[in-house]
Amino acid sequence: MSKMLFGTDTQPSAEMAVALVNSLPERGGQEGLPDSESLLRMGRALQIFYQPDGSQAELLAMRNLRQRLNEIIRTPELQPRMDMLNELFFSASAIPQIVTHPEDPTPHFHYTLEDASYIDHIKAITTYALSRLIIIGEWGRLRTCEGHDCNRLFLDTTRNGKRLYCNSKTCGNRIHSARYRNRATS
Ligand SMILES: [Zn+2]
Ligand SMILES: [Zn+2]
Repeated sequence: MSKMLFGTDTQPSAEMAVALVNSLPERGGQEGLPDSESLLRMGRALQIFYQPDGSQAELLAMRNLRQRLNEIIRTPELQPRMDMLNELFFSASAIPQIVTHPEDPTPHFHYTLEDASYIDHIKAITTYALSRLIIIGEWGRLRTCEGHDCNRLFLDTTRNGKRLYCNSKTCGNRIHSARYRNRATS
């Protein structure tokens, strides 16, 4: 059973952070952001409100961001991790505001001005989501899959917080894992 760790405005942001990190070849096993189209698809799948402009510069900036998010996630000590998150807030020119708008009439936070760049919007919402995990004491729910040969990051939203695999149907399936091992060694 899954639960919402935080409000509906933050969950997609946390999932975007996870998706960005997993787009790194060292995480997902292949380049997950080969072109602007892949970035657009990622945002759509997670129902991220902000729209990329499709430029090459934006794609490169997102690849830098995912690298930084991955470094933050791999940083075990709290203070350096918080410093790195604050750096991202500053570089995104984040300014929290409580807002409503036609697409989302429920009062919620925006962390960037409306006309900020896509990269700053995404930087700010993913940084906020990671910060929020620290603040609510749930940082430990951000974990690397224990599946064989899988290095994917996942956010454990189960009630007991004991999930081990990024995907129970693939990595968590013993038969699949055994087959995979046989194939990999043959
Ligand atoms: Zn909004
Ligand atoms: Zn996995």
